[in-house]
Amino acid sequence: MKKFKLFLLFLLVLTSINIAQKPYVLLVSFDGFRWDYLNRNITPNLEKIYSEGVRAISLQPVFPSKTFPNHISIITGMYPANHGIITNIFENPTTNEWYKLSDRNSVRNSKWYLGEPFWETAKRNGIKTACFFWPSSSVNDKNYKCDHYKLYDGKIPNKVRVDSVIAWLSKPYSQRAHFITLYFSDTDDYGHRYGPNSKEINVAISRLDSVAGYIVSSLEKIGMKDSVNVIFVSDHGMTEISKDKLINIEKLLSGFDVKLSNVGPLMMVEPKKNRIDEVYNYLKSHAKHFKVYKRDEVPEYFHFSKNPFIYSIVLIADLHWSLVDNEHVAMFTGKNEDNAGNHGYDNHIMDMHGYFVAEGPAFKRGYQCGTLLNIDIYPLLCKIFNIYPRSNIDGKLERIGFILR
Ligand code: AMP
Ligand code: ZN
Ligand code: ZN
Repeated sequence: MKKFKLFLLFLLVLTSINIAQKPYVLLVSFDGFRWDYLNRNITPNLEKIYSEGVRAISLQPVFPSKTFPNHISIITGMYPANHGIITNIFENPTTNEWYKLSDRNSVRNSKWYLGEPFWETAKRNGIKTACFFWPSSSVNDKNYKCDHYKLYDGKIPNKVRVDSVIAWLSKPYSQRAHFITLYFSDTDDYGHRYGPNSKEINVAISRLDSVAGYIVSSLEKIGMKDSVNVIFVSDHGMTEISKDKLINIEKLLSGFDVKLSNVGPLMMVEPKKNRIDEVYNYLKSHAKHFKVYKRDEVPEYFHFSKNPFIYSIVLIADLHWSLVDNEHVAMFTGKNEDNAGNHGYDNHIMDMHGYFVAEGPAFKRGYQCGTLLNIDIYPLLCKIFNIYPRSNIDGKLERIGFILR
């Protein structure tokens, strides 16, 4: 009997050590929150959070600096050419099937996704996960998808999103998620509509700063502020665009039979097989305010070559310029000022950089550092949970691990 009691005590101690050691991480994305929005003196909540934790000067996105490629790079630690979601909209040229963020069926179809999201790595290691939105969290594959997820609905109020996460964290210990994501689009919506230097964008920045404050006060209320690591990030920044800075590629290539994909900062061109050089040379000789590359010649620092769904020719607009086709000209020239900002440009340009703020038991306190890379967040998460990352990732713990305590 005594031996049995001792055994029970031993088990109890083991379990409590395990409970005490299993961390919590809440990963929060503010879409399109540019790095310098933190310097406008309108983010008191985020300032308080990083004064007790970590702030990077900026978070460098991957190319193209668009929403889906970047959220999926953050969560897989891979470049888009490797995780498969090369832009928000692209085609498999062999089957002519399209992936589109506006098409729920394609977004949920696991065949497009080649990387392993952190929540899958976590699940394999016995960690429960929950996502109140994150691109790819609802992919139709029992291994890939998050344990608990919501189908994307941008109309769900921000407060409801936070309250749901707090409810998940208030569940009995055995059912509680330890890795949770949250997503808010206000700064991206307002940034596109009014531009990053408008007075309106400041309304969205303040609104999301209040969300940050509400997250922390809600964690305090349930007694979990000191145990949850909260990481605030964005997928990219935003820059001003102009109706006077449009290049109609379809018009320019009217003498050629080509397929075009994407408009804005990035466009891909697929000529008929035997005319690639001809179209390339023609574009090169007319390349004012944009760059022209054959797929294999896209500079290495973009990591945007080694994927069969990238068309044969890649065009990248200079900052503030937009590449359009006939169908989308109106979208960029519309009378109402609702297309004043965009992103997707060269990811090394500061206007495209996002932000990084983190606070919690895993992080240093009052620590500020230079630019971090968003592909390094996946190995950072693995380190916090003390689990092995996948070996085929592009992210490196060496470039980010120093922000941990
Ligand atoms: P963009 O500015 O084109 O790169 O994309 C931003 C848009 O992506 C947002 O306005 C949202 O409507 C949309 N979005 C964000 N997360 C999701 C998601 N999980 N599923 C579908 N659409 C999303
Ligand atoms: Zn975005
Ligand atoms: Zn956007």
